[in-house]
Amino acid sequence: MIKSKLKEFVKTYFKQVAFFYSYLRARFLYVILISFFVSLFDALSLSVFIPLFEIATDASSSKKSSLTNYLQDALNYVNLPISVNSVLVIMLVFFFTKAVFRYADVYYRAYANAYFIKKLRIKFVNLISSLEYNEFIKIDLGKIQNSITTEVVNINSAYTHYISVVQNSIFIIVYIVMSFLSNTKFTLIVIVGAVVSKVFFGKIYSNSKILSFTIAQKNSNLSSLLMQFTNNFKYLKSTATVGNYSLKLKDTVSDIENQQLKLNKIAARVLSTREPIVISFLAIAIYIQVNVFNGTLSAVLPSLMFFYRAFNSFMNVQLSWTAYLKYAGSVKLVEDFETDLRTCVEKISGKQYTGFNDSLEFKEVSFHYKNGVNVVEDFSFKFKKNSTIAIVGKSGSGKTTISNLVTGLLKPSKGVITIDGTNIFDYNLNSYREKIGLISQETVVFNDTLYNNITFWAEKNAENLKRFNLVLAKVGLNDFLDKSSDQEDIMLGDHGVVMSGGQRQRLSIARELFKQTEILILDEATSALDSHTERLIQENIDSIKGSMTIIIIAHRLSTIKKADSILLLKDGKIEASGTFDELCVKSEMFASMVALQEI
Ligand code: ADP
Repeated sequence: MIKSKLKEFVKTYFKQVAFFYSYLRARFLYVILISFFVSLFDALSLSVFIPLFEIATDASSSKKSSLTNYLQDALNYVNLPISVNSVLVIMLVFFFTKAVFRYADVYYRAYANAYFIKKLRIKFVNLISSLEYNEFIKIDLGKIQNSITTEVVNINSAYTHYISVVQNSIFIIVYIVMSFLSNTKFTLIVIVGAVVSKVFFGKIYSNSKILSFTIAQKNSNLSSLLMQFTNNFKYLKSTATVGNYSLKLKDTVSDIENQQLKLNKIAARVLSTREPIVISFLAIAIYIQVNVFNGTLSAVLPSLMFFYRAFNSFMNVQLSWTAYLKYAGSVKLVEDFETDLRTCVEKISGKQYTGFNDSLEFKEVSFHYKNGVNVVEDFSFKFKKNSTIAIVGKSGSGKTTISNLVTGLLKPSKGVITIDGTNIFDYNLNSYREKIGLISQETVVFNDTLYNNITFWAEKNAENLKRFNLVLAKVGLNDFLDKSSDQEDIMLGDHGVVMSGGQRQRLSIARELFKQTEILILDEATSALDSHTERLIQENIDSIKGSMTIIIIAHRLSTIKKADSILLLKDGKIEASGTFDELCVKSEMFASMVALQEI
């Protein structure tokens, strides 16, 4: 019974220690240690007041409190006379030492706090970066965003309040020990009172913990709903379904408000009942001391002083604990989410990839998603180095899946993909992907400078600047640069708003040229452009043809006329292959596609 109670106690109050400790390590212990010294010197400086008073009024030795006797013994031990002056000096030393520890405490706690939030964010960034793509696409994006923004801040609040609980608990222990030293009987009576009040408050806490977890969960759900709301706004608006959806949103919002109100009601109850309860216990304790044990009030004065401090800390513990519980749900939520993410981490190992000489080859590759239906089937093809291969086919025929297989984002369910004869998964995938470039319809533009967007934050030295200007000239973006007074430092804005669609595509090509990509995948790269701009981009692509292996996935057949070979896909299989002219002759399907697009 006691063992299970103890287990329950440790689980309730120390469960999060492991979580906080895993981020802070020794820092967590230092915070506790400094707290101990703060309270120790606070108690010591307080303990000098009574002796000071007694010495100043020259109380007879029989009436002196135990604290005065302790101090007298201590001073005797170091051969110092007990006088108002020596006690004053001791008091000042204690107060100043406490001030030093106070400073260390505030400063170190702020440092540990900042460190904690930094570690937490970095951990999430690392975790998300290392997720397997196939798993990533299944995760709710709203949940990821909510975790690294809102929930991280909530966890930091949980940590701050938890530390406050720990710190004030240490204060309580130190004050109670001091009280014990000055009056054991009185201290025991008050402690019994404190235990009774703990039972009373315990009930309220368990309710608020459950509530807090539900609120955190609902908040996370709300962020996800809001994300979907904005993402699908066009559809909701055009189809007049926005009303239904916003009703769903409003329900969640009201629900959260109701739960929050309940939680606040509990907090109000704790806040208002605390002081009267504490004072009642003290009054009872003093009554017992004076009337039952026939003690004097002066004998309990030092203890009262320590208890006054201890109760202050006790109130802080309760306040901080209630505040902690408000955020404790986030700790659990993020812990669970982290566990989920951990199972989806891509294993990056194997030998370093440095480049290839001959070919990238698909050997009887099949791929299926969880539903088991092959979306690529028995696909075999040799992508010769520096050739330009186009993959065409109806929407859903498996083109993007093949591009994802090339980059290793997806793993074949059957067959192998080799590069110069070595399975690509035997290489460290990151080193392999460093040589891959990807340009798709939705261009990747960061809200940063043109230089950083192209060089991916490479150091701005003379050599890099020269290469930057070279690739810029090659894709014909130097005009854009010349028009800007900021030159390469021109900010491109969110999603590159200051650029036209064509310029953004040129930027994407420039980036791959700067990176010295080996395999360039163009996934419907020019589909969103008007035919004039498309022709200009096509010229860019034509100019790099032969200098890298290019895989073009295209809808518009005009862009693939010059490809060395074209693969016509149907239901994940190669229906026909050959040059543009060959296919026009040998594939009816291709010929009809060409006819439809009037090329
Ligand atoms: P394409 O690029 O030719 O339009 P895709 O390679 O994108 O075709 O898709 C091939 C098939 O795989 C389609 O039938 C599509 O519905 C299916 N598919 C794509 N992504 C997923 C996914 N995450 N889960 C299940 N099926 C998918």
